[in-house]
Amino acid sequence: MMNHLPVRWQPGYDMFIGDRQIIKICLLASSSSGNSTFIGTERTRILIDAGLSARQIGARLAQIGEDPSRLDAILITHEHSDHVAGLPVLTRQLKGRVPVLLTHHTAEELDWDGAAPPPVQCFQAGARFEVGDLSVQSFTIPHDSVDPVGFTLTSGGVKVSVATDLGYMPDNVKYHLRDSHFLLLESNHHPELLKVGPYPWHVKQRILSRKGHLSNDAASEYIAAELSGDIQTLVLGHLSEQNNTKWDAELAAKQALDRRRLTPRLVVQEPRIQSEVFFL
Ligand SMILES: [Zn+2]
Ligand SMILES: [Zn+2]
Repeated sequence: MMNHLPVRWQPGYDMFIGDRQIIKICLLASSSSGNSTFIGTERTRILIDAGLSARQIGARLAQIGEDPSRLDAILITHEHSDHVAGLPVLTRQLKGRVPVLLTHHTAEELDWDGAAPPPVQCFQAGARFEVGDLSVQSFTIPHDSVDPVGFTLTSGGVKVSVATDLGYMPDNVKYHLRDSHFLLLESNHHPELLKVGPYPWHVKQRILSRKGHLSNDAASEYIAAELSGDIQTLVLGHLSEQNNTKWDAELAAKQALDRRRLTPRLVVQEPRIQSEVFFL
């Protein structure tokens, strides 16, 4: 499945490694200053979250040969502004041509800047649905928003999972992340840095709570005990700029991978920066 055969990729053309279908993934950004991830197959292109400005989303998609107008859907995890800030302008620019998929409760929380809402398609948290040739599974995550979800996306036998903004790793999330080939996993903070850091006490409490954000320790506990043995690429994301360092997140995950004797590609995504393009 990985890239020992030449990759043939051009916008608008087939996307294959040899004769296998592949998935193209790019984190346009991942942190509390904005989240948006592009996932595409040969036939289907989606965005998970639109937490950057519409202009940044357009510019960053252009960097990887994509265009917002060619998206088939925009999936939303929850209503926090770092996940939806660019959505009203983006959907206005797209003139309703790209449906927004989100839960009923999350839809009720969104503010469309006084404009008419774009076409939304609501699903229940936990629902499974198809977008083109991507099979999407939503699952509830523990976070302080009305109805937050994570997603797994499967196409051609390849499973891509996105789990950020969660206070801890409940059994239902572990269940859904099983057998992933690609995982974007939150590694938000180093608890000691958070405790001595500049945030007010109530914000620290919120982040540390079971509906807050996943720490490096919690992420590595999950990796050491439960990470899919099929994992090819593990991306640590949603790193706090104040309460974490790339080095701390990477070290914790590396030690956990060593304990499991797993050797996926490990990438620590720096806040605000667009990732490389991953092909699976
Ligand atoms: Zn977030
Ligand atoms: Zn959030």
